[in-house]
Amino acid sequence: MLNNRAQPPNNFSLPRRVDRLAELAYNLWWTWNPEAQRLFSRIDTELWERVNHNPVLFLRQVERARLNAVMNNRYYLEFYDRIFRAFDQYIEATDTWFSRTHPELVNNLIAYFSMEFGLHETLPIYAGGLGVLSGDHAKEASDLGLPLVAVGFFYTEGYFSQRITEDGWQEAHYDLHPFDELPVFPLLDEQSKPAQVTVELPGREVIVRLWQIQVGRVPLILLDANVDDNPVHDRALTARLYSSDPDLRISQEILLGIGGVRALRRLGYKPVVWHMNEGHSAFLTLERIREYLESGETFQQAAERVYASNVFTTHTPVPAGNDEFNLWLIDKYFANYWPKLGLTRDQFIDLARHTVSWGDTFSMPALALRLSEGRNAVSELHGKVARRMWRHLWPDRAVEDVPITHITNGVHTGTWLARRLINLYDRYLGADWMEHVDDPDIWELVNTIPDEQLWTVRLHLKRKLTAYIRERTRQRWLRGGWYPSQVVASGVLLSPYALTIGFARRFAPYKRANLVLSDLNRLLKIVNVPDKPVQIIFAGKSHPDHEGGKMLIQEVYRAVKRSENGGRLVFLEEYDMNLARYLVQGVDVWLNTPRRPNEASGTSGQKAALNGVLNFSVLDGWWREGYNGQNGWAIGKDIDYSNSDQQDAEDAQNLYDTLEKEIVPLYYQLRSSDGLPEEWISRVKESIRTIGPQFSMRRMLREYLDRMYIPAMQAAQAEQVEEQ
Ligand SMILES: *Cc1c(COP(=O)(O)O)cnc(C)c1O
Repeated sequence: MLNNRAQPPNNFSLPRRVDRLAELAYNLWWTWNPEAQRLFSRIDTELWERVNHNPVLFLRQVERARLNAVMNNRYYLEFYDRIFRAFDQYIEATDTWFSRTHPELVNNLIAYFSMEFGLHETLPIYAGGLGVLSGDHAKEASDLGLPLVAVGFFYTEGYFSQRITEDGWQEAHYDLHPFDELPVFPLLDEQSKPAQVTVELPGREVIVRLWQIQVGRVPLILLDANVDDNPVHDRALTARLYSSDPDLRISQEILLGIGGVRALRRLGYKPVVWHMNEGHSAFLTLERIREYLESGETFQQAAERVYASNVFTTHTPVPAGNDEFNLWLIDKYFANYWPKLGLTRDQFIDLARHTVSWGDTFSMPALALRLSEGRNAVSELHGKVARRMWRHLWPDRAVEDVPITHITNGVHTGTWLARRLINLYDRYLGADWMEHVDDPDIWELVNTIPDEQLWTVRLHLKRKLTAYIRERTRQRWLRGGWYPSQVVASGVLLSPYALTIGFARRFAPYKRANLVLSDLNRLLKIVNVPDKPVQIIFAGKSHPDHEGGKMLIQEVYRAVKRSENGGRLVFLEEYDMNLARYLVQGVDVWLNTPRRPNEASGTSGQKAALNGVLNFSVLDGWWREGYNGQNGWAIGKDIDYSNSDQQDAEDAQNLYDTLEKEIVPLYYQLRSSDGLPEEWISRVKESIRTIGPQFSMRRMLREYLDRMYIPAMQAAQAEQVEEQ
């Protein structure tokens, strides 16, 4: 199999005694093992920060004298050996959870397709929540030992980096990310030439090169059209994420769906389960039907086989947010393709037809729903919304019988939990608690952690956050071109002792970043009480072509800049996984104010809860399932509104009341003689205890396995038996 040839480069010329650092640099295992990261940072902490935690750049730039120094440091070398023992044990293990639990299924490969993967801040191949979910999915698949190969894109420019002007206007900047400075390596063919596949676009064949990122035990295959032999405009096809240009979008989705299948074939992978994370990859269904037709099956037989092995997860509760194409685009891009499926134009379009007010479109989720036996939404409430939204595909069924189930999202514990808390949990939940991270019984032991120890870590994490914010603001100020008011707006006046609320997410209007600002005078009265100060940290990007989102950022930024708030409202540029980690670990309260029921799930609040941060959120998405009355706070009622003005007004009123009458007093309640806010800490423990297991990626992945992957694997095995 070609895949065995996949060898990360080792051209760092490291001293022999520590040369395995190169190996570690090319396996993202270190991203969810904070101790392993210290193998790099201990050599040169300042450089590790300067290269934004990029191990490849780090090893290229680190000074020889620094390496010589650690080679003479017995403690470093012992640490090095210990980490590599753990790494080898992990990578070489033959008895993984999956092989122990399902030994008869270990050869059944799952292919997992996603437009974006959020694995680490150095890899510019994600935009937000969908990507982080895919990245966490791949990491957990590695931990469990699932036979899984992931497929996505290598974007040379990524999403965009965000700057905010003095007047609060978001500017998008695009930087080049050369592959040889990232933990990505080229896949080679039998002649040691770059492995590639071709995909037909109107009037031409586009060449797609293949790269790999190693995620623990899981390979992530990345497609890249930036190849010398492609014309200039095709080389840009995979430069950026989520363009609004429909030609570019459909071309990308053709590359992902059709090119992705060809890439796996080229590399010798033979998946029996095909998971589409969101509709962007749904063209893979067509390519797989075409393959079966080539091997002599009828369309009907081919479609049945594809159906039985496909899994589709929808993430979009808003009809307008779904990916669909005008029919003229389908004519332009698929006129040569539907004959290969033996279909007429109408039959082809019927596979994905979606009738909207102005006519018909080709809907990617409809295509995926029609051709997948496994179909799910990402929270219980989202399941209800999705069944209503897609009912027209099953017109003779009652809405509650529409066959779309739900599997609520979760987060990868090792990736998001602060190192100090991992150490604390190691001590009180048992050394192997991470092996049982979805077991609620283990998490009962959170109650045995002494309040004082938990609180000490919480205070440490908040100090770390404020120090980080000050330092990144200093660096920004040093670069020049900034106004003093922007320095204040970026958090230099933050206190490490005040009650701190975090609000960081995509700036889409339904997320209502401005809800907490809707009665600014009332908010300022809450924020500016001298002995009970409250500070709010905002961060987030808007899609660069979305004026509504950018205007929301501007509205927040203008409020943040006002001197009346005393520097206690803050907006931070460039929300990414690094800033997300600082925030979900360092604040006291995580605020989320979506206009229900528009938040399919949300995951940042789950990351926060793991770290002892209390959620304060609308009962939408995951929080509607997570909230139990004791482990955080709800905003608004558990009802649907038909009038969104009324909904906004009532939610805002309720938000201020809870903040003023419950959250602030509880945080600042008269403390016992040891200075600990006992009731606050008891809520923190309740939150960690209940949310830790239930919203773990492990619980989520085991649900996918039991309800989606294993049935498809068994169907594939039954078919093989029949054929023999
Ligand atoms: C977790 C995460 C998200 C998704 O969180 P939501 O709660 O869905 O907003 C988005 N962006 C980054 C960088 C994240 O880490």
